[in-house]
Amino acid sequence: MVREDSSTQGRGKKDSLNGLVHRRQFIKRSTAAAVGAIVSLRGFSLRAASEKEEPAAGPRQLRKRRLGKTGLMVSELAFGGAPLFEEVPTPVPEKTIAKMLDEAMELGLNFIDVSYIYGRGYIEKAFGQAIKGKRDKLILFSRCPLGRGNSAREMLEESLQRLGTDHIDVYGMHGTWMSEDTADRLIQQLLPDLEKAKEAGKIRHIAATGHQAPTAMVRMLNTGKIEVVEVPVNPIWREFLEVVVPAAKKMDVGVVGMKTLWRGRLLSSTPELDGPLGRSREERLENCIGFGLYQDVSCLSVGFLEESHIASGIGAAVRFKGFSEEREKALRPKAHESVKENCVLCNRCLPCPAKIEIPRILRLELYARHYGLADWAKSEYSRARIKAEQCTKCGQCTERCPYGVPAQELVLQAQRLGGGEG
Ligand code: SF4
Ligand code: SF4
Repeated sequence: MVREDSSTQGRGKKDSLNGLVHRRQFIKRSTAAAVGAIVSLRGFSLRAASEKEEPAAGPRQLRKRRLGKTGLMVSELAFGGAPLFEEVPTPVPEKTIAKMLDEAMELGLNFIDVSYIYGRGYIEKAFGQAIKGKRDKLILFSRCPLGRGNSAREMLEESLQRLGTDHIDVYGMHGTWMSEDTADRLIQQLLPDLEKAKEAGKIRHIAATGHQAPTAMVRMLNTGKIEVVEVPVNPIWREFLEVVVPAAKKMDVGVVGMKTLWRGRLLSSTPELDGPLGRSREERLENCIGFGLYQDVSCLSVGFLEESHIASGIGAAVRFKGFSEEREKALRPKAHESVKENCVLCNRCLPCPAKIEIPRILRLELYARHYGLADWAKSEYSRARIKAEQCTKCGQCTERCPYGVPAQELVLQAQRLGGGEG
């Protein structure tokens, strides 16, 4: 059976951040909390928190950490399902997934992270086959999205059927590019069904996942119903580490990190990241996994695309014995500490009449200007479907922004990323 730390069940503090506040206040508070956690350790440490930990069963095996108030003890790496469909020319076959899972389990992995939407159900089905006969040794995490025309209850039933189980340990709301408005809709439309499913024993714990607006995730946390969040944890996406992780920890909510390797992008050499993360793929893997495990998280969800990735990914986690504060800081690209135009990625400036993804463009513009990541931002910018060059200067985004961000001005500056004047 999967072990739970029963002594902690239901002991989560009913704490909240009293609703949304301006980002600068937010950063002030969250940074203070984060700084507190780091300072208390003074120097070399396995990570910046006092998460309960279970030692590895062997020298090549993963350690386990407590998943917040759920009390579940999860391996430090979870098997993330999305890339098995989304990052390959053809979906990884079910049999290969089953073999990879077996190998990962031998190395101590006990946590699977999938979603109703991955591969239009293929991924849940493939893992359903892979876990046959070993369900009781695994912790399953899945979630359902908005806008599929069916209720959370119906989606959960499908997930249960595909996974071939009568309960899912952690099931949540799949926020993805979640704005604050989306968070409200998730809370209104999905959460009531999930609470009923929890009462009925079909799910054990409720989660929320998202990688757009940190403030939207805090809105979800403030319902007091969320027991696990999954958010980006890597050296580049700092917003979630600064805002969501400290808020979650205050409530004893388990944190699963995602985008640790950013779908492999952080493993490719780029001039600005070679310094902090290393030149070789191996160094980068070691540093990204180490950076993630150093943070105040329970686990990192990592996508393994082929069998060799299991040994290398898990090996990097097993080898991680701790960072000095200096080393962790060195892995973060140098940011300008007094950035004034802090876009919190709340999406409230949308829709843009020119269909520009304003928050995404502003993020890249910020990274290029203040984080010394110009080449990297340019390469990311080249993937944007609608570019800043399409801006008609209507001014609506600046007017709509409740945080005083000069959005139009910054969108125009971002034209430099495409080689324009900016
Ligand atoms: S100013 Fe440009 S980016 Fe802003 S809403 Fe108008 S067209 Fe979109
Ligand atoms: S520019 Fe303003 S409204 Fe738009 S995402 Fe950023 S903070 Fe939100």
